Amino acid sequence: NNNIELKAINKTYQKSKNSTDNQVVVHDNFNLKINSGEFVALMGPSGMGKSTLLHLIGGLDKPTSGQVIIGGEQINNLNESQLTRWRADNIGFVFQSHHLLPVLTAQANVELPLALTHLNKSQRKHHAATALSLVSMADRAKHFPKELSGGQEQRVAIARAIVSDPKILLCDEPTGNLDRKTADEILSLLAKLNKEYGKTIVMVTHDLKAAEYASKVINLETYTYDLKAHNVQEARL
Ligand code: ADP
Ligand code: ADP
Repeated sequence: NNNIELKAINKTYQKSKNSTDNQVVVHDNFNLKINSGEFVALMGPSGMGKSTLLHLIGGLDKPTSGQVIIGGEQINNLNESQLTRWRADNIGFVFQSHHLLPVLTAQANVELPLALTHLNKSQRKHHAATALSLVSMADRAKHFPKELSGGQEQRVAIARAIVSDPKILLCDEPTGNLDRKTADEILSLLAKLNKEYGKTIVMVTHDLKAAEYASKVINLETYTYDLKAHNVQEARL
């Protein structure tokens, strides 16, 4: 199981380093369960803590208190090097801006996450080629990012996110920089990775149409959690 569980999460940020009185409580006793194989759209106004939740689930940040449990493992107790290893095995990240390295080809960008694995060069090439065909970019493998369209760059970024075969994909505004048609193509691709390849997807988005691709929409503004039933009360927009 790769269920994602957030239990009694408190997340408080310090606004500035030299101050104790200006704390921002972003989440207070927040609970969430996302089952393996779900495609969840996290929505709601800016500042509600959506990106913060992605960072907690992906082990990029830790809660002030509470538990982050992924696939039965409590990851908020891992140290930094354990977390780095855990992330590499379990999580793929997709961001609004693709963060591809301009000096590397699509193929080389996708191979990057495999650099620190035990895989040899030819295995890395093979895995990257497989990931690129999965996102329909096999014929662009030798292209550099600047030779690709925005949608194609995002496809390569998705290939890089899935090249290690993580079970969970975390996407932060993956269509934020794209026109409607291209956004729909990227959303269809994410839906395919969810349905056909079993990826659990948690996607932060402001795109109302993205909700149509997700299997569940959680709007943080109206979200409540039934602790007894252990169930998210879904909020359709
Ligand atoms: P959303 O993704 O819903 O827009 P965020 O999770 O980005 O919300 O941010 C929630 C709140 O936490 C905002 O008020 C933001 O300013 C604050 N915040 C986020 N990250 C930090 C940080 N690293 N340091 C201080 N405050 C932060
Ligand atoms: P976007 O433009 O899509 O919002 P950002 O560069 O703002 O992308 O990244 C969103 C968050 O994810 C930031 O808090 C950043 O620290 C973090 N982040 C970005 N790239 C990576 C990465 N490769 N690995 C881990 N965290 C990352």
